[in-house]
Amino acid sequence: MNEHLSPEDISRWFAGERSPELERHAGECDECSAQLDHMESTLAEFRGSAYGWSAAQPASAPRIAWRPPVRHTAQRWVLAVASMFILVSASAYWHSRQQTRAAEMARADALLVQVDTEISRAVPQTMEPLVDLVTWGPGPTDESQKKEMR
Ligand SMILES: [Zn+2]
Repeated sequence: MNEHLSPEDISRWFAGERSPELERHAGECDECSAQLDHMESTLAEFRGSAYGWSAAQPASAPRIAWRPPVRHTAQRWVLAVASMFILVSASAYWHSRQQTRAAEMARADALLVQVDTEISRAVPQTMEPLVDLVTWGPGPTDESQKKEMR
């Protein structure tokens, strides 16, 4: 290991994970061993002040009995109710969306059928009565034309 100890290495060192490589570098490198010593002394200082603080607490403090966390139970209930509400409203939303989509599809189908009918018409719907009046037969015969000519 040619590089200095990384913050992860130092964390591992203080967690007790001291690989031979780590120990060798800590022993050989003045910079890293100084850093480890500094961290060690800082931790010891913190530990000492924590012990000191807890020793300085009034004797009545430790007598506080553990009570069931009422607030947490209430929070859990609120969370449970909220998640139930979310589930129910999500499924209702999904259901309504499905219904809306089905209605839209039906409307689109109806529109398509209408367009299809309009396109297949020979004449616009408003002119259909006129078409019914006029019969597109074989046209006037020669004889009737002759009668008119006379
Ligand atoms: Zn080093």
